[in-house]
Amino acid sequence: MHAEIAGAGFAGLVAAIALRQRGWTARVHEIDTELRAFGAGIFIWDNGLRVLQAIGAYDAVADGAYAAPGYRTERNGVCMSFGKVNSEGHFRLLTMSRQHLYSAILAAARRAGVELETNSGAIGATPDGVLHLADGRRLQADLVIGADGVRSAVRESLALPGARKKYIDGIIRVLVPRGPLVGGRWDEVIDFWAFAPRTLRILYTPCGTDSLYMAMMAPVADAAASAIPVDPDVWASCFPDLRPALEAIGTKGRYDVYETTRLERWSAGRVAIVGDSAHAMPPTLAQGAGCAMMNALGLAVAVEGVSRNDLPAALAAWEARERPLTDHTQSSAAHLAATRALAEGMPWDSDVFRAVRHVPTGT
Ligand SMILES: Cc1cc2nc3c(=O)[nH]c(=O)nc-3n(C[C@H](O)[C@H](O)[C@H](O)COP(=O)(O)OP(=O)(O)OC[C@H]3O[C@@H](n4cnc5c(N)ncnc54)[C@H](O)[C@@H]3O)c2cc1C
Repeated sequence: MHAEIAGAGFAGLVAAIALRQRGWTARVHEIDTELRAFGAGIFIWDNGLRVLQAIGAYDAVADGAYAAPGYRTERNGVCMSFGKVNSEGHFRLLTMSRQHLYSAILAAARRAGVELETNSGAIGATPDGVLHLADGRRLQADLVIGADGVRSAVRESLALPGARKKYIDGIIRVLVPRGPLVGGRWDEVIDFWAFAPRTLRILYTPCGTDSLYMAMMAPVADAAASAIPVDPDVWASCFPDLRPALEAIGTKGRYDVYETTRLERWSAGRVAIVGDSAHAMPPTLAQGAGCAMMNALGLAVAVEGVSRNDLPAALAAWEARERPLTDHTQSSAAHLAATRALAEGMPWDSDVFRAVRHVPTGT
């Protein structure tokens, strides 16, 4: 059995590796001229780490990732919550550069014998299992996977009903040297919030041994705070302790408004849609890649040993099994994005962490 996959992001690569592990052949088409990750840092919780273990990428990810001792939320300088992570009885949470995570998954894909094509953009697919490429090729497969991100061409070509949404906030993501921010609380993840003199948030985390990842949230309506290059004075007016890191940003960074997708169905015939193309969510719970990887692995498990004729039914069964958790996580993330409720502290014992506690299919 053979799969043609659009998009060499986390979802596309994990699906390809998991299919190869189950005896399929898999070819991944990436529109970019290089295989690389976009963005700065990333948080991967327990559930995503389990998937990385299942596809043989965990050791390379853990080697060089950062395991913080705790996760603190501060609002206008006041500690709102603190939770331990990465110790007995607590969630695992690794932070790393996106490129570090991507390189580890890409190496696992190469080891697994996944075929990779760059400069190979998809323009659509048909439910009978044909992937259409921008260079004119029409590739017949037993299974086509649209893992081509939030603006998915494969999804759009199938005209699957669904909704896309933008939010009131956006984020600038940067990696900078840790500089003097080392030791004590500076070794923790710190979710800094301020509502005066303006509404801003910096999710601060060491990322690897000597670099620091900052996800800097600013309202779309705040032109000065959402501007690139970052103005250190604007941000230091809320977070003076972070001035050394803010001044190290220079011209780096890009401001991205949160975008989400929710589809009525995740498949059409023998085409499956997975990852951000199916279920992009606001980054409030840091679960977009976690859910993308869980569903990509779950997809491979669902089609294992299934005959060609039974594939469409297997895709429906995959969605029925995996979707409730993704819908729940996406809705929780959307609520937290719309209300900025994380400023009150991390709701550690609440159901918003259902995905983190989940043991993913195939792990
Ligand atoms: C600010 C922010 C912070 C985030 N932080 C976290 C976090 O800490 N933890 C977490 O789990 N998630 C996080 N996420 C979410 C996470 O980045 C995404 O959910 C994840 O990248 C989705 O992976 P994907 O493979 O589905 O899509 P993508 O990563 O977007 O990959 C899609 C791939 O398809 C390629 N492509 C696009 N169009 C085509 C085409 N037509 N043909 C072929 N290839 C194509 C793209 O170039 C890309 O390589 C964050 C998101 C944002 C916006």
